[in-house]
Amino acid sequence: MKFAIPTFLLALTLATACCSKHNNATINFADMDTTVRPQDDFYNYANGRWTLNHPMPDDYSSYDAADVLTETTYQQILDIINEVTTHPQKPGSSAEKLARFYLSGMDTATINAAGIEPIRFFLDTIDAIQRPADLQNAITLLQKYYFISPFFILYGPYLSNGDAYALVIGEEGIGLDVSEYYLEDDEYSVEIREEYKKHIRNLFVLMGQDSATAQRSAMAAYGIEHRIAEITLDKVEQFNPTGKLRNVTVDELGAMMPTINWPKYFNQLNLPIPDTIVLDSEKSYFVKLDKMMNQVPIDDWKAFLKLKVLLETAKFLDSGFVREWFHFDRQIIGGQVSMPPRWKQMIEAMKNNFDDVISELYIERHFPQETKNHVVEIAENVRAALAEHISQATWMQDSTKAKALKKLSCTRLKIGYPPQRNDFSSLTMCDNFTTNVLNVLKNNFEYEMSFIGKVNDHSQWYEVVPFEANIYNVANQNEVILPAAFMQPPYFFANGDDAVNYGSLGAALGHEMTHGFDPQGRQYGNHGELSDWWAESDKEAFDRQLQKLIDRFNSFIVIDSMHADGEFTVGENTADLGGLVVAYTAFSKTEQWKDQTKLIDGLTPDQRFFIAYAQSWAGSYRDEEIRNRTKTNPHSLVWFRIEGPLPNIDAFVKAFNVKPGDRYYLPDSLRAKIW
Ligand SMILES: [Zn+2]
Repeated sequence: MKFAIPTFLLALTLATACCSKHNNATINFADMDTTVRPQDDFYNYANGRWTLNHPMPDDYSSYDAADVLTETTYQQILDIINEVTTHPQKPGSSAEKLARFYLSGMDTATINAAGIEPIRFFLDTIDAIQRPADLQNAITLLQKYYFISPFFILYGPYLSNGDAYALVIGEEGIGLDVSEYYLEDDEYSVEIREEYKKHIRNLFVLMGQDSATAQRSAMAAYGIEHRIAEITLDKVEQFNPTGKLRNVTVDELGAMMPTINWPKYFNQLNLPIPDTIVLDSEKSYFVKLDKMMNQVPIDDWKAFLKLKVLLETAKFLDSGFVREWFHFDRQIIGGQVSMPPRWKQMIEAMKNNFDDVISELYIERHFPQETKNHVVEIAENVRAALAEHISQATWMQDSTKAKALKKLSCTRLKIGYPPQRNDFSSLTMCDNFTTNVLNVLKNNFEYEMSFIGKVNDHSQWYEVVPFEANIYNVANQNEVILPAAFMQPPYFFANGDDAVNYGSLGAALGHEMTHGFDPQGRQYGNHGELSDWWAESDKEAFDRQLQKLIDRFNSFIVIDSMHADGEFTVGENTADLGGLVVAYTAFSKTEQWKDQTKLIDGLTPDQRFFIAYAQSWAGSYRDEEIRNRTKTNPHSLVWFRIEGPLPNIDAFVKAFNVKPGDRYYLPDSLRAKIW
């Protein structure tokens, strides 16, 4: 895990290949509902039959176009794994380690027989704590496996110098996704935290405690999480990097948090004592945490730390733990009906922990050089279009425009896969899956921490793996990452017309690029260093446009009487609108755009562009997922990613002849114009 500020897009177009008389089938007519007027409900016009054609599998809580591609990608990975596991591999090679990892995960008899033995050493270390000063023995042990503890340690760029790697420490510690689940009293938050309390009591029972002791442990651990929720930044404050990130020295850290012996702490993690540390939270968090370390009974802290181990390892332990993990994480939170098959759980486990080995094999098979060349061309055209929009923005000062154009020219595009990958040569595999997972995590921690103090050559990928159907903007590196898996149908059609490739991939690229110039991205400079380079008047003019989007999204109802959260989602909604506008400008430079009378399947180039965009956001959700997502995910529900931005765009209004009185008509005064 690296310290990154990623803002990500989820999902685009969808699997097609039928229903068109053209070879390059891209728009999927079978998923459209042409009985719906596009002017009134463009989402259902483009996607009205999508859910019928793509019913949600039982092991999903939401299912969208990206998930369709993810399923394809998982099958591709399964083919690779089947090949690797059924052929002899060179002992000690990455492929052999991959095979052993996978097979150990499928061997549930061995996993069940071992029970909690593989995590016993964590529990023993925690049990040995006698006084506040001992807490760091367990905290550092958890951190070596990237487990959540009262604060995290990662590596990432320095704030003022993106060309070197620093050590980053920040706040964490709660088990639920957002602090409002602990603090707010709306019916849904109360329901989730009561279910969570049951869940953590069940985990303590599975660990071996009797039910009364488990209940006490659960309440003690929950009590600490609740106190942490009270002192952490809320989800909107998290989006303000200049407000929370700062450099500190070890002495300053020691003054904030004297209960930790910091020289010893770094020694326990096998790290040199750093000159400067990047702090990713308010200083007051550490001051208050230190007080808690001394005021909260040690036995409560032990329960909290054990809970962290159980939460992190449950899905890798015996079947009782896996069932309990599924029940809360997937059924209660997301409404999922059945557990993913074991092989899929293993791919998930490898995706997050052992990705480099699969990536190497995946890229060999599924990422041709021609794809990369074609995508680079589209991406550079989108970049040029954004430059045009920046130059023409009427609300931005000329001096700010010059800085914006410079930053855009520095935005690094990472396409396909990282050149440098984790070295697994020192990793050993055994027959027990849980132990293998722990070994991989520890190996990753040691590998990533070895970068601290070294030159940042910007070759690293942050939190993203090549076989992921997604695209990312990493704000503190000023880069956009396109994983190899993303650049295949339904996102990118090697032989597709420009309208669909710009409407889907182009809009996604535009979305990510504009993130560099939104309220969060504008706080980072050319190389990802922290630097707020906008003039006050630029911010005010920008915010006036944002307010129109905030108001529009606040008016949307997600389920029952629950509204969308316009403020929480405004960054993503702005990027959706900006991405579309910029991609459309890039598309307007193509030969296809110039002749709007040349129809394909009865559609003009402009109509194809907007339908391709809308089809990239087809999807459905379970009710539980809608409620959870609205609280925890800054991206809007798929249908609002259509209904929110499109009525603001003149070219859309023209392409579908939208008139006053139509539901998708917005008077000019309410249209947000940002780029
Ligand atoms: Zn985004």
